[in-house]
Amino acid sequence: MERKRCEIICVGTELLLGDVLNTNAQYLARGLSELGLDLFVQTVVGDNEARMESAVRSAMERAEILLFTGGLGPTADDLTKEVVARCFGRKLLIDAQALEEIRSFYTLTRRPMPISNEKQALLPEGGIILKNPQGTAPGCVLFSDRGHTAVLMPGPPREMRPMFDREVVPFLRQFSSGTLLSRVVRVISLGESRMAEMLSDLMDEGVNPTLAPYAKDGEAMVRVTARADSREAALALTEPVIREIRQRLGRHVYGVDVNSLEEVIAGLLAESGLKASFLEAGSGGLAACRMQAADGASGVCGASLSAPDLSGLAPLLGIPRLLPENPADACAFLSRESGRQLDALVRAVIWQNGTQYACAVTVEGETRQYVQSMPSRGLDYYRTAAVQACFDMMRLMLLDRLDAKKQK
Ligand code: AMP
Ligand code: MG
Repeated sequence: MERKRCEIICVGTELLLGDVLNTNAQYLARGLSELGLDLFVQTVVGDNEARMESAVRSAMERAEILLFTGGLGPTADDLTKEVVARCFGRKLLIDAQALEEIRSFYTLTRRPMPISNEKQALLPEGGIILKNPQGTAPGCVLFSDRGHTAVLMPGPPREMRPMFDREVVPFLRQFSSGTLLSRVVRVISLGESRMAEMLSDLMDEGVNPTLAPYAKDGEAMVRVTARADSREAALALTEPVIREIRQRLGRHVYGVDVNSLEEVIAGLLAESGLKASFLEAGSGGLAACRMQAADGASGVCGASLSAPDLSGLAPLLGIPRLLPENPADACAFLSRESGRQLDALVRAVIWQNGTQYACAVTVEGETRQYVQSMPSRGLDYYRTAAVQACFDMMRLMLLDRLDAKKQK
């Protein structure tokens, strides 16, 4: 069977205006990928008849299965069903059962049914109704003479999601050939372009699995995507490639399919039986905040402090002496000297001033420090970069200690 191509078309002017985030597209895209269905284009179009019609007609040139969300409501600007039915050459007829279900929804909620809601019982001829237990607008599936299938779902995510999961996914299974599995290799202290260079042959040759590099705040990742008949088979296809990536990037790989760097550090701290404290100058407590929110962090976080600059931290710790002038030295000094006030054996000090950032980490008496200048970028950049540098230093120091222990 030739593989069908899908497209997602989200309808709603509120999406174009940026008032509402298009989470439906993300939800549907994930679902299609789990079904192993190809998705090459997504469209957002406003509640405008002519533009919607043009979006539908051009999607029909590229794909066989069109998934819509939005514009199924009772008001005059809800036009999806009308427009798709016209493009598919289908009439709209009142469906007695759908009308009954809408009526009973109003009876149940003890409200009078507005006349305009009858419009929601209109169904394209030859179509299938998709039940909406969460609201009044039923969805529907319709077919064109040219072999297209359209799936129409309501806009509100709390109605769309259960409809997709319960009714649409089983319906789409007939078109699916296996599954797509994506795994994410997370990489730190190595830019996206450098990483891509080191993996370029794998990326060029990769067919199944395919490799794609991404950049994210202060880190990079490689998505490894395999297609196979089952999840297990897809997983097995990704394994040797992920091993090869680990081999090439070494310790720059901090995890595969993990939620975050801080979650990995929480795991290393727990394994080492250590707690970490953060002293932050200019990062607004970001490191402590991220760390404390990580899975498994509750047992590994000590007390933390935050101040606008390093000289604000010293008196809080009862350290009267003047700090070294060099910021990295000052971070190292504070992380060593705070051992008396903070009982955590891992202490990290972070500093940024909008042009430079520095950090120092002490793990059971050993201190390492780092400093970096960067030409002007936004404040968020320096905060994130400082925290990432500190987290990475902490991760490597913990790994070194665990490795040394294992060798003994
Ligand atoms: P509608 O079915 O067009 O009446 O959509 C009603 C509401 O659903 C909108 O006001 C949004 O709050 C929400 N909504 C519509 N489309 C989306 C979408 N693509 N992603 C997330 N929410 C949406
Ligand atoms: Mg709408």
